Amino acid sequence: MSLAGKVALVSGAAGGIGKETVRALTDAGAIVAAAVETDQQAAGFNNARPLDVRSEDDWKATVAWVVQEFGRLDILVNNAGVLREASPEETTVDMWDLIHSVNLKGVFLGCKAAIPELRKQGDGAIVNVASIDGIRGNYNHAAYSASKGGVVALTRSLALDLAPDGIRVNAVCPGTVDTPMVAAMMSNASSHEAAMEVSRQKHPIGRIAQPGEIADVIAFLAGPASRFMTGMAVPVDGGRSIR
Ligand code: NAD
Repeated sequence: MSLAGKVALVSGAAGGIGKETVRALTDAGAIVAAAVETDQQAAGFNNARPLDVRSEDDWKATVAWVVQEFGRLDILVNNAGVLREASPEETTVDMWDLIHSVNLKGVFLGCKAAIPELRKQGDGAIVNVASIDGIRGNYNHAAYSASKGGVVALTRSLALDLAPDGIRVNAVCPGTVDTPMVAAMMSNASSHEAAMEVSRQKHPIGRIAQPGEIADVIAFLAGPASRFMTGMAVPVDGGRSIR
């Protein structure tokens, strides 16, 4: 279904899933504002602006920019995220704080800044990019899983708060996706090919996802085809969560 006339804002837009989300929403007819990490201004988008999702001031300025440029805001996709792998004992406080400030506080601040504008439309949508790690556990992902579990809980609570305003809040929970985040994780493994094979085997479909396969579900959750869905954390994981 069409997103013509809608204005969307995507955080972390220069990343693997982010770029494809800009593509999917644009293909559906939306005007898409791309928020990119501060040092990635040259990401090649038509409508882009730097945003550090950890900063409330940055979020306020970004939402104000969207409204000034495009007149409204209908859809927020909280996609920015970071991953650090470590055993529980090797997870430093700095690592924990970084992961939580980007992955969880960043999502909260994005929602907080966008809600007043979304409320004006009467049919706003927020899509948060969580992870299957936020539903299931994962080895060496304690901080990351906790942050994504927080995103799932935040999604559900906000969905209750915002339903009376016609704002739907949902999350996608991807399995492993072929993006720079995963490439960095694999490059730390002693054997890249062995690590990739383990990843493939975790997904009953027999492969990891391409970023467009996550972005298409994000566009679905942002649009009218999902109009009776709110507060859901939707696995997009090639069957990984049913094993
Ligand atoms: P990616 O590394 O390609 O993209 C992440 C983006 O987030 C980058 O563009 C980065 O610049 C941005 N970012 C990081 N810190 C930021 C900050 N402080 N402010 C603003 N932007 C910041 O990785 P991706 O796989 O495309 O990740 C997108 C989302 O998907 C993340 O939330 C990630 O946790 C989630 N996810 C990814 C996978 C996977 O297997 N790749 C699986 C589940 C969930």
